Amino acid sequence: MRVAIIGAGISGLSAAYKLSGVGVGIRADIFDRRNRVGGVLETVNCDGYEIESSADNFITTMPWGVQLCKELGLSDKLVQTNSQYRRTYVVRRGRLYLLPDGFLMMAPTKFLPMALTPILSPFGKLRAGLELFIPSRRGDIGDDVDESMRDFVYRRFGREVFERLVEPLVSGIYAADMDKLSVLATLPRFREMERDHGSLIWAMRKQLAANRSAKLAEQSGARYSLFVTLRGGLSLLCDTIASKLPEGSIKLGCGIESVKLNADGKWILKLENADDWEKCCNSDSGLVYDALILACSSYEAARILGGVLPDISECLSKIEHEGTAIATFAFNSDQIKQKINGMGFVVPKIEKSSILAGSFSSFKYPHRAPEGKHLIRIFAGGARNPQAAEMPDKELTTILLEELKRIIKIEGEPLFSLVAHWAKTMPQYHVGHRNLVRKIEQLAQKQPNFAIAGNAFHGIGIPSCIKSGFDAAEKITIGYL
Ligand SMILES: Cc1cc2nc3c(=O)[nH]c(=O)nc-3n(C[C@H](O)[C@H](O)[C@H](O)COP(=O)(O)OP(=O)(O)OC[C@H]3O[C@@H](n4cnc5c(N)ncnc54)[C@H](O)[C@@H]3O)c2cc1C
Repeated sequence: MRVAIIGAGISGLSAAYKLSGVGVGIRADIFDRRNRVGGVLETVNCDGYEIESSADNFITTMPWGVQLCKELGLSDKLVQTNSQYRRTYVVRRGRLYLLPDGFLMMAPTKFLPMALTPILSPFGKLRAGLELFIPSRRGDIGDDVDESMRDFVYRRFGREVFERLVEPLVSGIYAADMDKLSVLATLPRFREMERDHGSLIWAMRKQLAANRSAKLAEQSGARYSLFVTLRGGLSLLCDTIASKLPEGSIKLGCGIESVKLNADGKWILKLENADDWEKCCNSDSGLVYDALILACSSYEAARILGGVLPDISECLSKIEHEGTAIATFAFNSDQIKQKINGMGFVVPKIEKSSILAGSFSSFKYPHRAPEGKHLIRIFAGGARNPQAAEMPDKELTTILLEELKRIIKIEGEPLFSLVAHWAKTMPQYHVGHRNLVRKIEQLAQKQPNFAIAGNAFHGIGIPSCIKSGFDAAEKITIGYL
């Protein structure tokens, strides 16, 4: 069986890896328009610095990332975040404040730090405390009734907790418009807590009591103890998978324009450029395949399928995407004139900054910069500021550096800076996303020898993408075996 996979990001590579292990005469070819594997995952290693151009670590509570690293023999390269700095800052009126201890993404779990935080006004704190007494939304907390992140947090905790804490924390991950972002598709456990316990605060406190050994209460924001990266960078993960795939099966610089089905039910791939033919097609059988896995962005998948599966194509085209940019600055340690006590900071929309979030990259993972140097990564763009993703490098670095220096005391110019633009790479899980994905999957299920993977469906994080690739491979092999 010959399988074509379109997209050599982590989703497509995971699908190819899974298929290569089946060992019953399945051969997968993987096509990518870019001239390298990894998609958005890209590590730049230079002069002792390890710079991640996009994702810089992944969560371990979803097992697929760590499991895959172990299978690939990369266990000894997995590194945890530096335990010294597992705190998050929030910007308020241009200054950094530590997120209250025990505030986990959406809900406070400790009363004293919330009462003492300067981030919220007395009224904001009181309103947050009332969450304990606010009844859950009646009757309609079924799977199908979705709600925007903004509405949900306003309803439970009030405006200040939303604007000052939740909006910046969630924006730093999804780069989304909170008026449209779906709670059910992004943080469903909070809706489940509301349904099962009434109050999120009580639910989180109960959970913490049960997980005392995990020491979650000592953290805040993202639970940093649950994140890992690879020494050598996340490109190492993609390159290692690629090295395990059969020779000649990775076709780089080969964009796919469209596909069609022939009378025998086989998939025929059309390349974007005639020149690509030489690169991709050195076999007699040409670009005819028994099965197809689309592991590219959902809007690309929509375009590719337009002429052959219009229903799926139409649904796929409804998933919107935003672009982001990451600017990394290198400094001598003594240029940073402020004590850094956290992994990074988030910036609320109401601060009207071009910065979505910042990461003290080499504090978080010390191996990323040589002794005496530091890397700071700035995340910009998204639904809040889409122009940033497209801005020329020089203009963007000037704006971001100026704003960074307003937030943190830094002297002098950076030793160097590096910008990565990621246009249309962040799928937006808008209200109703789960139903849309269900429909896409039902339609895809009906089509034999066909599967879709990627970050547009069940999670944008690396482990979810790996799982999506594995699931797609499984669907194809189940049909075959
Ligand atoms: C700036 C940024 C920061 C992030 N940070 C984190 C993080 O810290 N932790 C985390 O877990 N996740 C993070 N993510 C999310 C995660 O990195 C991505 O969701 C994931 O890597 C996407 O993988 P993918 O394979 O689904 O898609 P992609 O990586 O986008 O790969 C799709 C591939 O398809 C190819 N392609 C598209 N169209 C065609 C075509 N017509 N023909 C041929 N090839 C085509 C593209 O060239 C691309 O290589 C981040 C994402 C971004 C953008």
